[in-house]
This record gives sequence, structure tokens and C-alpha cells, in this order.
Amino acid sequence: MKKTRSKNVNLTNLKLLFYELTKQNSLDYFTSMMNVIHISAECYPIAKVGGLADVVGALPKYQENSGVKAMVVMPFYDNAFTRKHQFKKIAEAEISLGEKTYAYQILRLKKNTLSIEVTFINVPELLFKDYVYSDDDTERFMAFQIAALDWILSLKQKPSIIHCHDHHTGLIPFMLQECYRYKELNQIPTILSIHNAQYQGWFPHDLMHYLPAFDISHNGLLDWDGVINPLAAGIKCAWRVTTVSESYMEELQQDANGLESLLSHERDKCVGILNGIDTSVWNPETDDMLTKNYSINNIQTGKTANKKWLCKEFGFSLSKPLFAFIGRLVYEKSADLLPEVIDKALSEKNCNILILGSGDKAIEQQLEELKLKHPTNYNKCIGYDEQLSHRIYAGSDFLLMPSRVEPCGLNQLYAMQYGTIPIVHSTGGLKDTVTDVKDDGFGFRFDHVSVQDCLDTIQRAVTYYEETPNLKNIRKTMMKVDHSWDASAKKYNDLYKSIKTS
Ligand code: ADP
Repeated sequence: MKKTRSKNVNLTNLKLLFYELTKQNSLDYFTSMMNVIHISAECYPIAKVGGLADVVGALPKYQENSGVKAMVVMPFYDNAFTRKHQFKKIAEAEISLGEKTYAYQILRLKKNTLSIEVTFINVPELLFKDYVYSDDDTERFMAFQIAALDWILSLKQKPSIIHCHDHHTGLIPFMLQECYRYKELNQIPTILSIHNAQYQGWFPHDLMHYLPAFDISHNGLLDWDGVINPLAAGIKCAWRVTTVSESYMEELQQDANGLESLLSHERDKCVGILNGIDTSVWNPETDDMLTKNYSINNIQTGKTANKKWLCKEFGFSLSKPLFAFIGRLVYEKSADLLPEVIDKALSEKNCNILILGSGDKAIEQQLEELKLKHPTNYNKCIGYDEQLSHRIYAGSDFLLMPSRVEPCGLNQLYAMQYGTIPIVHSTGGLKDTVTDVKDDGFGFRFDHVSVQDCLDTIQRAVTYYEETPNLKNIRKTMMKVDHSWDASAKKYNDLYKSIKTS
């Protein structure tokens, strides 16, 4: 089993010369059954901010189904889930960040009602908060990562793979490789999955002393552009790097918020694996958050019942096509274009629009104000509402996703699973999963992010809605496509195995 090493190739970019990985011996950690530990800041249904939670809540289940034992390690937050459940302490200890010492406990559910095994790290002073991310992320996630590795160090049976997710766990591959304290673990292969390269967890060099001791001459592994960059450190030190779609992997070579040259340099150890969806959660036939369950056999009545509920709740007429947007109100999602798109679309086109999301305060404000101008065919819910999101996927006719950046995008997969037609900008995972109706697909795509392109595509969709006598057929075909995790979980398992045999 070998690690793919970074090479000191002839690059003008000095940043890349900082790191040349030390030689490692081959050692086979694989027992008859691989066991992987996923380390993540989010996991559905425990704590969710976005798609990361959905992935980490689902992938381990599907891996278990295909013969890989998988567990999740995550922070213990002060949230609805932890308040509702009882936990038992399985270990406790202390960690230090610089001069400060923090007590922590390792917790498990007293009665595990989840279909995955989760180990919680509780650092009461830092992690036990009613939010997942905020301004104090550096200390919080540093403590989380160190406590997680200390705990793994204490395990009798070590994992075969440590799978890290996003920058919150990006220092783990570095610590395993470099910190003296984790020498015993440094043959365990690490995978870093990049769910979103926009966020990198930067912090200044003067906080480097939070990390357990390592050879300071290797500190270039932590640095990118003069600051500590946990995502970059993860990319440099992980044995393999994955992103959540093949197209996003390609796009990152050109546009990765400053990490383009690093990702190009490391491209041999990078692979794009498309996310799937957890069909035990996202299935209109069994989803208990819907007002009426349905399948391809009663799609028309099922979707109409759900649309009726939405129309009643938000004051829309049932006869017009309903367009919805669900997501973070940020630039990446092109949320800044939404107010103008909505205003123009509702002035010119025969449709209703519903928004569910939160984020940028100025955009939230504009979306609130639009309600005064379009009281009958526009509405919004500013905030986060899991149940409402399920009802919107089920009851809408079209789902808008004009995202500038969409590493994979899960919303379009949920929409298709619920027979709702996605309207997407051709980028990242949206490009890999949505084919336009004019190419015999189930969606509408546009190539440039602009208000006009969004409006033209909405018009195309309205015309399609009005002129297609039987939308049932396209919905049926769309719902038959298998977007479940089965195939992708197998690709992750194969990736693990390829490390073993390479
Ligand atoms: P990202 O992780 O970039 O936010 P994804 O498409 O990967 O985007 O995943 C978004 C997930 O978050 C989906 O499950 C979506 O339904 C959910 N989501 C986003 N915003 C909201 C919201 N305001 N209320 C409920 N669910 C939301």
C-alpha cells in the first residue's frame, strides 16, 4: 500500500516547493473487512447546514451495505438532536491548544436509533454551541481534530482509512503525517473529500502552536499564500483527494479560490466521485414530511396534493406553474440575481415563485420587500426548514438552481427524485446530472449566469408547462433514474481498495 507522493517538479510557484513528503513504508492495515472513520463537522440528521451533512449521513450506510464498516466522528453541538437524545460517555481526557487546556468527552448515543454509528466529541467550552460554524471556527475545529485523533490513537483496532471532509478536518492528514504524537497512526491512509473549495479555513501563522509538536521545518505544508490554509494542507498531505463530481474536479484546475496550481500539481491523486442521495430519507413514497406520499403510479394526484398544500400555505393559485428555489442565499448560488429575476419573471411571465433560504442579509431584505410588489404570485420563507424543503421538492413544478458554483448539488437530485423539473446553470455537478429536455433529458440548462439567461430559461419552462399535454410522462421517466448512493459508495470503496493495492 503506497501513498501517492507530491513531487518537487519544476514549478515556478514556490509555494509548491515547500512540501516534499517523507518516505513511508508499506504496511498493510487492511483486515478482512475495511473499516473507515469519516470525520466531519456535519452529519444528517444530527447537524445540517448543507449538502455535507446529507453526504456524511448517507455514504456510511451505503458503504456498510457494500462490505465496508463505516463510522462517523463529529462534534457534539448544543442543538435539537442532542437535546432530544441521551448519550453515554465512553472516554474523557484533555487537549491543549497552546497554553490553554480543554476537557473533552467521547460520547455515543445510549440507544442508537440512527442507521449509522456516530461517535461524538464534546469539548464543552468550544464545540457545545447552538451553531455549527461561526467566527471561532479555528479553535473549535482544531480542538475537534486533535481530540478525534487522540481518541483514534487510543483505539485497540485502528481504522483502515481515515476519511476527512472539507477544511474543518483538513489538518488531520497533516497531523497524521507530521506530528510526533500520531507517529503510530501515520501509515493509515487518509482521504480528503472537498465538498466546497471556496471555504478553506484560513488562519494566521501565529496560531500554528495550537498544533501538537512537529518538525517546524515542514511548516510549509500548512502554508498557502502566507497563511495557514487547512484545505491546502489537506490536499498536500492526504493520500487521495476527492471532489463531489467529475466536472467540479475539472473546474477546480481553473477556479479553486486560489488553490488552482496546487490542485493541478496534485491531480494524480485527485478523483471526482458524484454524490448520491439517501433514498431512505428522500423517497416520495415513504417521506413522512410530505402531505401526501406518492410514487410513479400515482404521481399526478400525489404531486397535486402536495402542490395544493404549498399553494394554500403561500397564497398561490394552483393553475400556474410553481417555480421554487431552496438554498443558501450566497453569491455562489447566484442568490444576488434572484430579486431581479423574480421581479422581471413575475411582471412578464405566468408563474408563481417560492423561495426558501437564508444567508446574505441584503439579499434576504430584498426578497422580503419583493412580497409587497408581488403579493399573489411570490412568497418566501427566510430561514432553514427541513420539512418545508421536502414539501417544496414534492409540490413544485420546477426547481431553480442558477448557481455560479455547484460542486455536486443535491437539490436537483432531490427534485428529480420527486418528479420536479430542475432548471440549472451548466456547471459542476449540475452539468453531470441534468440533461436538457431538448436533448431528451429532464431539465432545462443555461450556459451563462445572467438575469436574462435565467429569465429566458424560465420562459422556456413556462412554455413547456403550457404546451406539454402530459407532464406525467417526463416526471415518471425522471423518477425512475437511480440517483442513490449505491454506485458512488462502491466507487469510494474501490478507491480505498486501490490504495491498498497500488
Ligand atoms: P450546499 O451544501 O452548497 O448548501 P447542496 O445542494 O450540496 O448545497 O445541499 C444543500 C442541502 O441543504 C439540501 O439538502 C437542501 O435541501 C438543504 N437546504 C439548503 N437550504 C435550506 C433551507 N433554507 N431549508 C432547508 N433545507 C435547506
